[in-house]
Amino acid sequence: MLGEVLVIDDAKVVRTSLGRIMRRCGYALLEAENGELGLQLLALHPEVRVVFLDINMPVMDGMTFLEQIKSRFADRELPPVIIVSTETEMKSILKALALGASEYVMKPFDESIIKSKLDIVGIGYNT
Ligand SMILES: [Mg+2]
Repeated sequence: MLGEVLVIDDAKVVRTSLGRIMRRCGYALLEAENGELGLQLLALHPEVRVVFLDINMPVMDGMTFLEQIKSRFADRELPPVIIVSTETEMKSILKALALGASEYVMKPFDESIIKSKLDIVGIGYNT
């Protein structure tokens, strides 16, 4: 196993499909249905290698999560965050990138698209 991936999305279907792809890539899945639960998991699992983050979620959205990790984990090197979004959210994507996200992927995605994003953020995977 190469490490852990944290998928934060309120849509179970997105967490499941990303989990399936990332397991094939060699990663164990940690999943959260909102930013607050994602923060808790990241605190418990500092070894997380990469985060996939939805923008619109109840309780705590992706923007707030991005703001929070910078202050809460200021002493830690943070994993790259890849925004998982829809084309209609382009303005939000740009804002998320400005807040520190590394890359974004549009829904729907497939394994080759995810691997191309891992290449961009410099995260290795089993081929
Ligand atoms: Mg959502």
